[in-house]
Amino acid sequence: MIAAVALLCATVAFVVHLLGGLAANGADDVPGAATGLDPELQRRFDIAQAAAATDGVELRMTSGWRSAAEQQSLVDGAVEKYGSLEEARRWVLPPESSAHVQGKAIDVGPTDGALWLEQHGFELGLCRTYANEMWHFEMLAEGAAACPEMHLDSSGGW
Ligand SMILES: [Zn+2]
Repeated sequence: MIAAVALLCATVAFVVHLLGGLAANGADDVPGAATGLDPELQRRFDIAQAAAATDGVELRMTSGWRSAAEQQSLVDGAVEKYGSLEEARRWVLPPESSAHVQGKAIDVGPTDGALWLEQHGFELGLCRTYANEMWHFEMLAEGAAACPEMHLDSSGGW
């Protein structure tokens, strides 16, 4: 009996240790980031996060890869929040054209981190994409001499 309890305790301790290890490991608490995000985008973000930390700035990924279903529920939520599809289109793309669903976009925070990334993004291969979303970044295209001009919002992607 005592041996069984000891074994149980050891198992619980191991699982807690395992979960702690996962939580401490980079993209961790971002749903789907470990599964669907482009590995190169993840790599660039990791470098950016470390560089920001060197500057004393916290940079976190708040959203990475999303499933089509998750993206659709964001569209539905935005329509509800903004009261019309026309306004919602400025803030969220449908699953078919969302870069998040393709694993090619990340949202970052907090505000200071997003501002830091906009300032240093080009040299790290990350570009802010939308004028109305300070948090949304995509990869700089191979060989591009500069980040492309920002879109006003996401409505052109529908
Ligand atoms: Zn985004």
